[in-house]
Amino acid sequence: RRAEFAALRDLPAMTTDGVRIQLMVNAGLRDDAAALDVTGADGIGLFRTEFQFLVSATMPQRERQQRLYKDVMDAAGDRPVIFRTVDIGGDKALPYMKAEQHENEENPAMGWRALRLALGRDALMKAQARALLEAAAGRTLHVMFPMVSETWEYEAAHAIFEDQRKWLAARGKMGPGAVRYGAMLEVPALAEMLDQLLPKLDFLSIGTNDLTQFLFAADRGNPKLAERYDWLSPAILRFLARVSAKCHEMGVPVGVCGEMGGRPLEAMALLGLGINRLSITPAAVGPVKAMIRSLDVGAIRAAMPPLLEEAPRDLRQRIETWAEEHGV
Ligand code: PEP
Ligand code: MG
Repeated sequence: RRAEFAALRDLPAMTTDGVRIQLMVNAGLRDDAAALDVTGADGIGLFRTEFQFLVSATMPQRERQQRLYKDVMDAAGDRPVIFRTVDIGGDKALPYMKAEQHENEENPAMGWRALRLALGRDALMKAQARALLEAAAGRTLHVMFPMVSETWEYEAAHAIFEDQRKWLAARGKMGPGAVRYGAMLEVPALAEMLDQLLPKLDFLSIGTNDLTQFLFAADRGNPKLAERYDWLSPAILRFLARVSAKCHEMGVPVGVCGEMGGRPLEAMALLGLGINRLSITPAAVGPVKAMIRSLDVGAIRAAMPPLLEEAPRDLRQRIETWAEEHGV
């Protein structure tokens, strides 16, 4: 079906009832931007900036970061690139940052990582903010923060960016034309605070990889657990349904950038919960777009609430049957 997927490249990710879905790709390296042209995706919905740090022998200095961000934005052209600030620490340990990391953490995924580490070491965060702001010169910068657990963490990160923006302006340097700020929802506690958090955001992006490991208390890297908990389980879908509804109620765009969105059946369920932005691995764009173009999204949106109310144990099977019966 590869040729069939390739033929979809220039066709819009539009459902049969005329809803345009934003289909973006996850990326992390300079060359990944080429995936935009190959897949025909609408942009980069998650640019994992820590990749540059992970492949470097020494800490990438601000100028090097800036060059990478500019190259990626240049390659993307008019298509948006959502840069995620560094998610390092924990299991993504950097040899040149040992002193910053608490060694021998028992639970590194829940440890000193991502925004926690970046706020604890604000020179790192400031340098990255400067690099992103200057790289975006004259354009719109999209930035989001990983592992936000409480609203104040988002506010602190936002303040660092805004301070750097003022600093640039005061020196007559060109910053971005506009900045769109987002948070990643990966820590379940944040879902209880959306009424306070959402008014401060331009968008929310749900990282289902980390989110599901925390919802089920199941290490995402443990092969024994890999098949045990299903993305199409009632608990996850009910959780995501509430988050999506809250975002719609408050008028904040919401998307999913975890691997879940890269599987056609899971992606269909997400669309059924009101999510209409997905950022997925480039190889999944064809299959997911084919699903979207065969889907009546109004019908799946009507089908999901009773299914989640009933919450059958074989929910995956029921969703699959629905898809078959509706020609998806
Ligand atoms: C996630 O956790 O779902 C996510 C997109 O981030 P990462 O996979 O980089 O942790
Ligand atoms: Mg994550």
